[in-house]
Amino acid sequence: LDEMSSDEAVQSTNDDASECKRSAVRLGYWQDDYIQILVRNSEKKPPEINRGYFARTEGVNLFIKKFLKVSGDKCQIISFGAGFDTLYWRLREAQFKIENFTEIDFPSVTARKCYTIKRSKVLLDGLGTDGEVRLSSTELHGGNYHLVGADLRNLNEVATKLRESEVNFNLPTLFLSECVLVYIESSSVSNLLSWIMSRFTSCMFINYEQVNMCDRFGEIMLENLRARGCPLSGVDACRSLDTQTNRFISTNWDGAKAWTMVDIYNAIDPCERHRIEKIELLDEQELLTQLFQHYCICVAWKGHVFSSIALSDY
Ligand code: SAM
Repeated sequence: LDEMSSDEAVQSTNDDASECKRSAVRLGYWQDDYIQILVRNSEKKPPEINRGYFARTEGVNLFIKKFLKVSGDKCQIISFGAGFDTLYWRLREAQFKIENFTEIDFPSVTARKCYTIKRSKVLLDGLGTDGEVRLSSTELHGGNYHLVGADLRNLNEVATKLRESEVNFNLPTLFLSECVLVYIESSSVSNLLSWIMSRFTSCMFINYEQVNMCDRFGEIMLENLRARGCPLSGVDACRSLDTQTNRFISTNWDGAKAWTMVDIYNAIDPCERHRIEKIELLDEQELLTQLFQHYCICVAWKGHVFSSIALSDY
């Protein structure tokens, strides 16, 4: 596959992720009034997929809320490979105040998101700018929300776009990536993580992605992704929890910790777990457990205030 078509295959993984989120939301796994605006396709996914996405969303939310609690109103969120994620609108609806919220993805993905936001009263109103936005075909800036197109492998481009989004390098900043780094060469990820260390005063990173990819089940997962034409250039870091944390430690982050989704799922509020376990019958408990063993959340930090988040064990 040439570079163009493999990039396109990677971009199409966003359609998958957002369709799965929409499927789970429609069944009531969690509330998100915005995903249906961004994703038209409402095909129902199998129960283990819905539960897997529930754990992913809840797990990531758990750490986002901890970050917001520690950092207060004067903070920023930068979402790498954000796709059609609706976090900005969900946090706003929940009354969280964030100084700057910037999303980066390939321009072809941000173009589609821009197009939808421009045409949706609900999404536009959510920016709280009375419809006032600066936009091009691939980028949108409105109030504290910034959506920009860049290739994360190109540091100059990323730096320029963050500047254009008025990111403040001295505010506590949360970086997010959900199933993104696995598609990027390890050397490019290292450069990005080192650059963050050199520019930001205090920050935290939440990375959700594959782990334990060396066993049979992991190999099958990777085969499926490869069959779709996705280059898995960053898969080396998905070998184990240690390789996940090492990528931060080796680029001089103060610390990092990772858990498989088995542990994260067990840390979710028992009432919530109980509620969602009644939504659909799950025939394949074993399959879900295997999926949970093969995804993880890794949290890394710079600045001692954030070390407490990871060390307090959820
Ligand atoms: N984070 C979103 C979510 O969880 O719903 C989307 C996940 S999707 C599996 C991966 C996303 O990462 C895609 O939107 C893709 O375009 C983006 N991505 C992958 N490599 C990238 C790169 N080098 N530069 C910018 N975006 C990239």
